[in-house]
Amino acid sequence: MKTLRETLKEAGEKKVAVGHFNISNTEGLWGVFKAAQSLNVPVIIGVSEGERDFVGVRQVSVLVKSIREEYDYPIYLNADHTYSFDRVKEAIDAGFDSVIFDGARLSFEENVSITKQCVEYARGCGRDVLVEAELGFIGTSSKVLDEIPDGVLLDESSLTDPVKAKEFVDATGVDMLAPAIGNFHGMLRGGVDPKLNIERTKAIADAVGIPLVLHGGSGNSEDDFKQAIANGVSIVHINTEIRVAYKQGLQIGLTENPDEVAPYKFLKPAVKAVQDVVEKKLRFFNRL
Ligand SMILES: [Zn+2]
Repeated sequence: MKTLRETLKEAGEKKVAVGHFNISNTEGLWGVFKAAQSLNVPVIIGVSEGERDFVGVRQVSVLVKSIREEYDYPIYLNADHTYSFDRVKEAIDAGFDSVIFDGARLSFEENVSITKQCVEYARGCGRDVLVEAELGFIGTSSKVLDEIPDGVLLDESSLTDPVKAKEFVDATGVDMLAPAIGNFHGMLRGGVDPKLNIERTKAIADAVGIPLVLHGGSGNSEDDFKQAIANGVSIVHINTEIRVAYKQGLQIGLTENPDEVAPYKFLKPAVKAVQDVVEKKLRFFNRL
């Protein structure tokens, strides 16, 4: 079985991206896995602090591992946006393949200091755990938005600076970097987010020499994805679009079978809705 590090290296060489999809429950997990399996591509399951508390930190780790082993499948688990060293440590101890320390709202120095602490812990844990860090603020909520979130500015000077990015990566030793390149968490109502800055993406990728991660991919166009992936992005995160699909699937399951009380029956359309969205995204990311 390839490690996540090997999978990412291969994605970089093939100029494709590994899809990262968030889940809150086993319906989401099966929806994502079935989509990836149908295309035979690797996939990363993401759980934010809230999502992993809902499923159970150790429980989600065992669930993903069980699929990896039973199907001999490259499915990985990432601790999405984690805001403290303690919670990074908890995820590493629970067996996650990668963690994100999100210090985007801290000062540059504080962000470096805690990210470095996370990298040191990962290196000493006895497994190959990847650490991702955030540089540049892109908002925090995975929902449908009426406007671009407060504090997210899309002008050139607010995007991640390639020189600062290089300094940050050298100082911390992180494996992956999530920059601000015109992206933001959540998606605008109407479904089309502003374009990404591809020139800046390439400049950052060239400067840091490690895989870039595109967050807030919900709402970005196919063309944006293609260009970003061709210029250094090796992982794309999708959350909001899956949440919307899950909820719509759930509503269908409940309204079409008003007398049904078996959750495994009325939840089936929710699994299918997640699967369909994920499959569509994985096709772009993997150029299929
Ligand atoms: Zn994110």
